[in-house]
Amino acid sequence: MFKQIFKEIKKYNTIVIARHIGVDPDAMASQIALRDSIKLTFPEKKVLAVGTGSAKFKYIGTLDKLEDINNALLIVTDTPDQKRVDISSFTGFSKMIKIDHHPFIEKFCDIELIEDTKSSASEIIMELIQNTKLLCNQSIAKTLFIGLTSDSNRFLFNSCSPSTFRLVADFLENYSFDMYEIYQQMYARPLKEVRLEGYMAENLEVTKHKVGYIKVTDEIIDKFNVDSASAGNVVNNFNFIEDVYVWATITEDSKNELIRISIRSRGPEINTIAEKYNGGGHKFASGAKVTSFEEAMKLIQDLDNVMKDYLKKIKETEEE
Ligand code: AMP
Repeated sequence: MFKQIFKEIKKYNTIVIARHIGVDPDAMASQIALRDSIKLTFPEKKVLAVGTGSAKFKYIGTLDKLEDINNALLIVTDTPDQKRVDISSFTGFSKMIKIDHHPFIEKFCDIELIEDTKSSASEIIMELIQNTKLLCNQSIAKTLFIGLTSDSNRFLFNSCSPSTFRLVADFLENYSFDMYEIYQQMYARPLKEVRLEGYMAENLEVTKHKVGYIKVTDEIIDKFNVDSASAGNVVNNFNFIEDVYVWATITEDSKNELIRISIRSRGPEINTIAEKYNGGGHKFASGAKVTSFEEAMKLIQDLDNVMKDYLKKIKETEEE
């Protein structure tokens, strides 16, 4: 399929690359790296990476404005369903390609390259570059490294395979970017966010069946002088707590009149629960949106039920 995608890229003079709403480093890195690689390979083409930006991810690169386009190719990275594509309009595109690593939700593109066992969309773009005539340079390699490292939580998740490490090793060797410098950009964070994390750890509630959750109200957000995304930003740091297999941050976002929930698991799959609550995502890393704390607690109850079954299964296996 890599060759088929390259053929389409070669064919179109105008190419737009989009990704999911609620941008994260892998979504942004995969689209920017692909844009820059296509531009490097075919300087005469107009290639735009579009979507809402984020000041926090400025270090990854800059985005473009979607112009009036005609007979263009749209490539969507890191997005399983059409409603979550961060683009104002789908008109003007003659062909659409999806490149994604989320579990399949729906087919909405002509060509869909879905590899849901891969660590990140950036890893798939690395493979695309390695398997076609697309060119790469140090800056593109660095961007892809950021996307892959971020989505795999620094190679922590089991989505990292021998081929992930081989790819990273090849890119490091061929483009010799500075990993340490990248980590400073990715992981330096404001002290107030660290203080919020301390509050969250202290106030984490744990259900009977080992689901950890923390409510972060507007009042708390104001008290720590952070923005509403901050609680979700630190959700990964609550991994590997012995008494917690599934955990969630429940954050009030009154500006948008909703409550955002970030869910993680090192036990059962949780994406189907997230889907019940206006959300979705990966098997072990999902998000949801609800309108009240009561609804959020229903989700926590569902997670607790899943965990009840999970713990029962563990016990049965241990007894065998
Ligand atoms: P987050 O907890 O926001 O870091 O999201 C974890 C994963 O779930 C990412 O792959 C997101 O794209 C996905 N996700 C987050 N929120 C939603 C949502 N409301 N609907 C579908 N997928 C989501």
